[in-house]
Amino acid sequence: MSRDNLPPAKPKLKAERHSSSPARKVCDLVPALLAWFAHGARDLPWRRTRDPYAIWVSEIMLQQTQVKTVIPYWERWMHALPEIRDLAEATPETIHKLWEGLGYYTRVRNLQKASRQIIANHNGQFPRDHEAILDLPGIGRYTAGAISSIAFNEPTPILDGNVIRVLTRLFGIATNPREKSTNEKLWRLAEQPVLQTHATKSESACSHLNQSLMELGAIVCTPKQPNCPQCPVQRHCTARRTGRVDQLPNLGARAPATARRFAAFVIERRGHFLVRQRPAGVVNAHLWEFPNMEISATSPDLKVIAKKELGLALAIVEKLCVIKHTITRYRITLEAWRAKIKSPLRKSARGITWLTPAELNNLAFTSAHRKILDKIAP
Ligand code: SF4
Repeated sequence: MSRDNLPPAKPKLKAERHSSSPARKVCDLVPALLAWFAHGARDLPWRRTRDPYAIWVSEIMLQQTQVKTVIPYWERWMHALPEIRDLAEATPETIHKLWEGLGYYTRVRNLQKASRQIIANHNGQFPRDHEAILDLPGIGRYTAGAISSIAFNEPTPILDGNVIRVLTRLFGIATNPREKSTNEKLWRLAEQPVLQTHATKSESACSHLNQSLMELGAIVCTPKQPNCPQCPVQRHCTARRTGRVDQLPNLGARAPATARRFAAFVIERRGHFLVRQRPAGVVNAHLWEFPNMEISATSPDLKVIAKKELGLALAIVEKLCVIKHTITRYRITLEAWRAKIKSPLRKSARGITWLTPAELNNLAFTSAHRKILDKIAP
């Protein structure tokens, strides 16, 4: 068939825009995302710098933690430890105190381990090479991509919860993003626009493009009640067009939370309180807490368990407070009891120490035990 004999081309319908290939479609989003990011993004302190160390610290703090919580922590941290070398040389007490309340303390210990690796292997300079960044403790594919793109404008993709939400909705991806094949598909989709953007040779486009995806997920394409009418890419969005915004992403059923109950004892003697430091290798290692133990709903007399579990002969005085919190899949109830020591500490109770409220306030406590401390030494 000659070119002249071809049937006349159909006029391009608006709907055809939605049927273009995912790679093409994701690249179509770039101008709208960059334009929106230039005007619609929040002014966050770590966005005013290209210092990879500062960006790295912000990315680690932002894991599992909201922006508004992180801001004062990040500012305090950068004031106390402004350079990688300061972090490498800081004491465990300093870094845990600066992190106190952020939780997931393995993050802060990995930060310090990584800073020492940077001093030893990279002459104290944060590495530019993506593989070298990935080799640092506590840095996975997402964080490496974020640092490479934001600090060095490298075309490395990022895929966190926010970006997953945006991409699954834009492309109407109904399979679970935690499944390997879907996850790989999402990484490929996240890579397309940043590669395209890199080709423009702009000094900040990769950085801004990745941040625009994260920011869109954080403030517009939110888990509940996304602000679709204000979304810069709404006309490309499959979930909006097909009425499936509330169904995506499909993260599957959550494992049911497990309830756990603990009892802690606030024991005072001549203006000093009995506390202990959690050992290395356990959850919340190195942090301080009041002597405590896990109990069940049917636990016998607290005095009996305290003697058996903690080696403390106690007289229980009164309940001080009850603190409820959630850690990963555990719904925890912590009862704090005022108590008195009935006899000198047994050998098995070693590892615990008497400190004044002023001394306690200088230590890093777990969040729940900090709340108890605030009751007795505000
Ligand atoms: S239109 Fe709505 S669902 Fe789609 S990407 Fe934008 S905010 Fe998210």
